[in-house]
Order: sequence, then C-alpha cells, then structure tokens
Amino acid sequence: KRKRDEEDLDNLIQQVQDINVRESDYDTFARLPLSQPTASGLEASHFKNLTDIQKKGIPHGLKGSDILGAAKTGSGKTLAFLVPVLENLYRKRWTDLDGLGALILSPTRELAIQIFEVLRKIGRYHTFSAGLVIGGKSLQEERERLGRMNILVCTPGRMLQHMDQTAAFESDNLQMLVLDEADRIMDMGFQSTVDAIVEHLPKERQTLLFSATQTKKVSDLARLSLRDPEYVSVHEAA
Ligand code: ADP
Ligand code: MG
Repeated sequence: KRKRDEEDLDNLIQQVQDINVRESDYDTFARLPLSQPTASGLEASHFKNLTDIQKKGIPHGLKGSDILGAAKTGSGKTLAFLVPVLENLYRKRWTDLDGLGALILSPTRELAIQIFEVLRKIGRYHTFSAGLVIGGKSLQEERERLGRMNILVCTPGRMLQHMDQTAAFESDNLQMLVLDEADRIMDMGFQSTVDAIVEHLPKERQTLLFSATQTKKVSDLARLSLRDPEYVSVHEAA
C-alpha cells in the first residue's frame, strides 16, 4: 500500500508539472490534478465548477508561482488560495513534524474565521493541523497550540505579537504566505505590521496576494512581498 501511495504521489507531482497554464481547460475541480483528500473535500462541500478567478489563479498556484490576484468580493478568492495551500503542502509530504507550512493573513477576525471555516470544510480529509490566531484568547493559550500547527489563519497584529513575544515560534520551514484582502489590510493601517511579519519569514517561499481592488498601496505591498508574480485579475464585463 505504501508503494502505491508513493506512486500516486509521484504521478500527481508529474501532472502538476505538466499543467499548461495557457490552456484554461480547468473548468471543473475534477479536471485539475488534485490529491484525493482535496478532491474529496471539495466534492463533499459541493464545489464542482471553478469561478473565473479560480480558473486563472489555481493552475499558477499549484505550479508554485507567486500570484497577484484581483477580483471583486464574492468571486471566490478563498478557494483560489486554499486549494494551492493544501495541495502544495500535500505534495511536499508535509507532516506534523515539519511545523508551520503556510501562513494566511486576513485583515479582520471575522474574515479570518470565514477562511478557517472553508479550510476546515475542504480540508476535512487532510491530516494537517490548522489554527486560528486572532486574539480573544490569552497569548499563552494561543502560544501553546501555535507550535503544533501546519497552517495558520491570522490577523496581522496578533501574528506579529506572537513573532515578537513567543520565543518558541518558528517559521523557518514556511513554504507559503497568503495575504488576503490586501487592500483592506493596507486601508486598516497594517502596512508596517505586515512588513515586519514578512521580515520574519523565509525569503524562499511562495506568496499569494489577493485583493478586491488594485491600489497604489497594494502594489507597494506586492513589490515588497512577491517575487516575479503572475498577475491574475477578473474584470467585470463592461
Ligand atoms: P471572495 O473572497 O472573492 O469575496 P469567497 O471566496 O468568499 O469570495 O466566495 C464567495 C462565495 O462563493 C462563497 O459563498 C463561496 O462558497 C462561493 N464559491 C466560491 N467558489 C465557488 C465555486 N467554485 N463554486 C460554487 N461556489 C463557490
Ligand atoms: Mg475573500
């Protein structure tokens, strides 16, 4: 059985390498090269067809590219980053022992909770540990759980607080950073907080930045945090 699993994973890795990002053939999740746990989680959550931003973004995300994504509220940006997060850690055979693999920053507690709920739904068949870091509990309580998490969804202020004050907090292994609602993160005055967080993280990583609008502040943040990004945006028909 172990050999079978290894072969399946090698196949999946090959299929992802073979993705042709110029073809937009990937209109259903079933057509994408996805692991069984993600495919099953999406199906159980009744997600079948990709939205436009997902069609444009997910193939690049799976291939490991940085992404600067813009699409209005309600267009499905959450899955556009959560699917690559789950898949890219899975293909790296990420386990509990590997520590923090992905950090997802969201401007508000409410939005962070929403992302976490979607992650729990579509990630239900994965074995990753995932946590919310949004304050509301004592730092000490959060701290104890932090060290065991593979994926964290957090608000910027609280995350930086842990980076500064939690001695055992480790992000040396981090593979992916997601900045969701980057325009709101900037509008809420988190610019220097996010800069400081990014400073703490390994430079070798994949970064996915999503926002509803493209503003000067967002492009400033993109310049600081992304490397050679793919630009994906969905414009409304005029
Ligand atoms: P955004 O972050 O762009 O505002 P969300 O990720 O919150 O958008 O998604 C908006 C709504 O669309 C949610 O209710 C979500 O469940 C739904 N949705 C997202 N992707 C799909 C999909 N591929 N198929 C059906 N519904 C989807
Ligand atoms: Mg969103």
